[in-house]
Amino acid sequence: MFTGQYYCQSCNKETIHNEVLIRKPSRYDNDPTIFGRIKLLLHAFINGGHYYDMDRYVTCQTCGRRELDNKGSEFE
Ligand SMILES: [Zn+2]
Repeated sequence: MFTGQYYCQSCNKETIHNEVLIRKPSRYDNDPTIFGRIKLLLHAFINGGHYYDMDRYVTCQTCGRRELDNKGSEFE
C-alpha cells in the first residue's frame, strides 16, 4: 500500500491518499468452468502478468472519495 499527496476534488485541497490496484474485470470472469479459469490464467499470462489488467485508484483518507488515476502509467 502506497500513500501520497493528491488533490481531492471533494475536499478541494491536497490530502493524503492511499493507492490501490484493482484488477479490471475480464470477459472470462463469468465463465464458471475449470476451462474458463484456465483461460483466465492464460489470458493474464499472455498479457504480461497481473499488472496489465490493473486499474490504479487513489482513495482520499479525509473523505473516502476514490478516483481512477491511471496517469502514472510509466511503469507499463
Ligand atoms: Zn477528500
